[in-house]
Order: sequence, then C-alpha cells, then structure tokens
Amino acid sequence: MGDISVGAPLSVRVRVLFDIDGTLLLTDGAGRTAIRAALEAVYGTAGDLEDYTFHGKTDPQIVVELMTGAGLPKAEVRRLMPEVWPAYLDRLEGELAVRRSEGRIKLLPGIVDLLETLSGREDVLLGLLTGNIEEGARRKLEAAGLAAHFKIGAYGSDSEIRSEIARVAEERSRSVCGNGASAVVVVGDTPEDVRCARAVGGFAMAVATGRHGIEELVAAGADAVFEDFSDTEKVIHCLLTQSGKGTLTGGAGGGSGDR
Ligand SMILES: [Mg+2]
Repeated sequence: MGDISVGAPLSVRVRVLFDIDGTLLLTDGAGRTAIRAALEAVYGTAGDLEDYTFHGKTDPQIVVELMTGAGLPKAEVRRLMPEVWPAYLDRLEGELAVRRSEGRIKLLPGIVDLLETLSGREDVLLGLLTGNIEEGARRKLEAAGLAAHFKIGAYGSDSEIRSEIARVAEERSRSVCGNGASAVVVVGDTPEDVRCARAVGGFAMAVATGRHGIEELVAAGADAVFEDFSDTEKVIHCLLTQSGKGTLTGGAGGGSGDR
C-alpha cells in the first residue's frame, strides 16, 4: 500500500480506486472512538462529535471541522494536528483488535470475492482513494484481512481535500501503469466519492452499503450504482466496460457507513 515500487504489468486497462469505510468494510465505530480519544487528549475536547457525520470526509478535515466548530482558532488546530495522529493510531489499534476478536469488523457483501478476483487479473490495478490517513487505512484493512490487495493508495495524510487526494491517486496509479492509457474507476459509498471520480475524469461507481441510498447516489451523478457488490460478475463487467448506468444488484445492503 502506498508503495509505488510494487511491480505492475504494462497491460493494465483499468485502475480501480476504492474508498474504505462503507465501501469495503465497517469498523463499528472504531475510528470514531479513536478520534474522540485523540481530540480530547490533544485539544481537551472532541467538540460536537456526537452529531458529526464522518462519511465522505478526510481525517484532517474531520479534525479541523470539529475543532473550529468547538471554537478553536484554525491556526491552532493545524499547529497541534501532528500530535493527533499518533494518539489516534494508538487508540485505533486497540479498538480494531477488540472488534476483530468479537467479530464486529464487517466486510461488506461481495467484497472478498470481488477483490480476490480483481487481484488475479493482469488488466486491473487495485488502489485506494480514502480520507483515512495512510496508517489508519492500513490498520483497518489489516483488521479485515484486505491489505494485500492494493498496489497503490492516496490518503487523508496526502491532503485535507478529498478531490486533491483523488488527483494524487490518479497520478500514483498512472506512474505504476506507465503510459496513462488506462481508465480510472472510483468506487465509493458517498457523493464525495462521485465528485472524486469527476475530479480525475474517471467513472464513478457507487455502492449503497454506507449511509447513502441508491437514489441519493444516482442524484449525485454516479455513473453506476449498486445496492451492494454481491454479484461479482456484474460488478466486474461494469468495472471493465465502465458501462451500466443505474445497474442494481440484489442483497441486503445498508449500514452506518461511518468510521
Ligand atoms: Mg466511505
């Protein structure tokens, strides 16, 4: 993850950039609990965390919004932000371990089959495009047993602005693939993920396993929307052809979509 020295074939046709929370997995609030502890330790308050929604946001954006919302000057929030991450990661590790041992880390429908199938294809490069800081992303994916699938990534530690992270992911994936002839598909569960696809001229594939329903994701301009990814064949066809607007697939779907 994040290591662009990892070899990739020159035959890549599609670079698939996945969001994490609400798209691949749900951590039953591990991130939220960890960020609360870190904010309280560093700033002395977690602000209005109870009523704050994390989905589609980047980790640094969450810190800035919560702490300026609590009345702290933005410059002060930014000055202390480097202290937040070690505290956050330390707590996150423990929160994930507890949830893992209790079977509370939820892999969303079809994700294991989808990633395993895509990993085996030479014409697909799998990457991450997430608001999580890199180490946080790695820990969540490791807790879910998914870390090995991704060859590149761009993270909340690259930028506070999600569309900027999209540009970094596009560049990193292109540098691995070589000539830039391959298509980009951004896969995510929020309107922000759709906007990321737009920011890099990619195909926006949305999935309603987070907090946003199918209608909302369609309204946000997603090129294809799935209820969930349980129909691996249909999802892969859509990824490879970048077609299938309005495609839906069966399954329960639904979830908190939060960190
Ligand atoms: Mg998400």
